Amino acid sequence: MVSSINSVRKRPMADRLVKQVLFRSVQNYNILPLTSCCNVSCLFCSHRQNPAGIEAYFLPPLDWETVEDLVMFLSPQKKIVIGESATRIMEGEPFTHPRMMDILRLLRDKFPLTGIQLTTNGTLLDEKKVSLLKSLEPLEINLSLNSCSPGMRQIIMHDNLAEEALKAPARLQVAGISYHGSIVPMPWITGWQDLAQTVFFLEEKGARTIRVFLPGFTRYTEEKLQPPPGWEKELLAFLKDLREKCSVPLTIEPPGLLDLKPIITGVIKGSKAEAAGLRRGQMIISINGLTPFSRVEAFRLLSEPGKYEIKVTDGGTEHIIILEVCPGEKSGLVMDYDLPLSLATEILNLTKKAEKVLVLASEWGEPLLREALHKTMRPGIDITIVPVPNRTFGGTIKSAGLLLVEDFLKVIEDYVQDQEKPDLLVLPGLAFDDRGRDLRGRNYQDLVERTGCRAVLV
Ligand code: SF4
Repeated sequence: MVSSINSVRKRPMADRLVKQVLFRSVQNYNILPLTSCCNVSCLFCSHRQNPAGIEAYFLPPLDWETVEDLVMFLSPQKKIVIGESATRIMEGEPFTHPRMMDILRLLRDKFPLTGIQLTTNGTLLDEKKVSLLKSLEPLEINLSLNSCSPGMRQIIMHDNLAEEALKAPARLQVAGISYHGSIVPMPWITGWQDLAQTVFFLEEKGARTIRVFLPGFTRYTEEKLQPPPGWEKELLAFLKDLREKCSVPLTIEPPGLLDLKPIITGVIKGSKAEAAGLRRGQMIISINGLTPFSRVEAFRLLSEPGKYEIKVTDGGTEHIIILEVCPGEKSGLVMDYDLPLSLATEILNLTKKAEKVLVLASEWGEPLLREALHKTMRPGIDITIVPVPNRTFGGTIKSAGLLLVEDFLKVIEDYVQDQEKPDLLVLPGLAFDDRGRDLRGRNYQDLVERTGCRAVLV
């Protein structure tokens, strides 16, 4: 379903629903949605590949009054995010909003010290805007570059102003604005050389990190866009090789992790972590004598101001590194996201109220959750973890956020055919909105009715 706040004006219920989603985005995530309009049309845009019935709200540029109303609910304690979506509102290019610069000024007036994170494809980042952005710091830009060749950017993003977009990295670098470059690699279309050149282009133009988002393909992806067999393995090997050659931290998302080992993905140039001697590939053994539970925990610990004695190993040799992080400063450490300890603890606490627990995990999350529970589980607890394949979207989709009630139901029905029925189902909260509805609007309580098991979201 594609709906919009303007197109549904004559239907007050739907209008109210979209407004509720807008306010939820602001209150729950500190994300300020402004528009779903975009001035390019990427081949990899996720909305091109959805099965029927998926709820997605298309938002025309918000009027000034609504923006002012939403801004009142932003928190000054967390960074304000523009150009991303954590709800069913389709993301768009924020600089296509006719009052974008006024909105940024409004934010800066109301929140003089709060960081603003802006995601943009860069096409509209002319010199005037870049110099205004400089005056509105602290802010950080996520620049979706995808290719450093105007011709290839035209092909994969249908960007008629590609030449302009490719000037954006240098403009940001000259202005001294911190930015991260991102690439959705499609080397079977752009060529492998273009991918390597784009990484080194971003390195040369001063990107703090380079984020590579692996494209997802569903069973609904047009045949001409489907990658060749074996693409994922070949692409990962190519990216890992590039990571070795590039001095800027290069992250691959999703990282496809199989364990919770706190291995450093990268270290930002000129950062405290680099000066202290931390390096890509080192594994953190302990921080002030404590073994971190996972990458997430190591990163969190080292993000707090303080002085740390870090024991690391690289290829068998152990070193002690002293890192001091001052208030308001970032360590410069880059680590992949695996699992927080709190998730394992939350699941274990649930087992106090149930005898037989079935944990339904995404295919990406299952090995990590298995290790996390193995590390924390007490004897005598009956927990089974099963991965849930995404049959609805199909293709390469393995994340929790795109699972639907029917995907969970199929796995539970298969499970109870030869296993004792669980008395508690644990489901990934990411698959549901805050009213417990999946992407097609079906509530997870349907699983309770269909299976007779209690269910909780974590
Ligand atoms: S730049 Fe972003 S919002 Fe615009 S078409 Fe591409 S993926 Fe979609």
